[in-house]
Amino acid sequence: AKTLTKSHIFLPHLMAALEQVDETYIMVKPDGVQRGLVGEIISRFEKKGFKLTGLKLFQCPKDLAEEHYKDLNAKPFFPKLIEYITSGPVVCMAWEGVGVVASARKLIGSTNPLQAEPGTIRGDLAVQTGRNVVHGSDSPENGKREIALWFKEGEICQWTPAQEPWLRE
Ligand code: ADP
Repeated sequence: AKTLTKSHIFLPHLMAALEQVDETYIMVKPDGVQRGLVGEIISRFEKKGFKLTGLKLFQCPKDLAEEHYKDLNAKPFFPKLIEYITSGPVVCMAWEGVGVVASARKLIGSTNPLQAEPGTIRGDLAVQTGRNVVHGSDSPENGKREIALWFKEGEICQWTPAQEPWLRE
């Protein structure tokens, strides 16, 4: 048998350090708030094991909604989308973890809730694209951009969850 060297012992720590920790912006849209789904939606991410670093109830102004969805501003549904997002309070969240952006998109499901798999948030809780209850960033770059857009400095908390050693080896 090979002898166990220091580098063997520390390899898992090194590998963990190399795993990229991402951040994603998740938002319960006004329909999710009005339908009483805030707890249910937060719970999906919480139970999965991601770390909540920012959370607030917020009435989104029109200019912020337009900036958030600026890549879609040429789409025919854009005015209705802005009206929808500003129609009532939203719940803004920042979540952190290895692979959180892609994993959150999977937990959320397809844009059209009728095509979203059962077990996903949209698959379980919604029926129409225009009322699909939740937003999740589509890339790590957009995760950072959107958290910076929706949260002020001081609204994001860095902390170590007590469960961490029970989630990741
Ligand atoms: P996702 O939110 O799944 O990333 P998109 O970035 O394509 O999807 O679109 C952003 C949001 O715009 C959707 O979540 C939905 O609220 C709205 N939207 C997208 N396509 C349509 C559509 N065809 N009609 C109405 N609203 C739409």
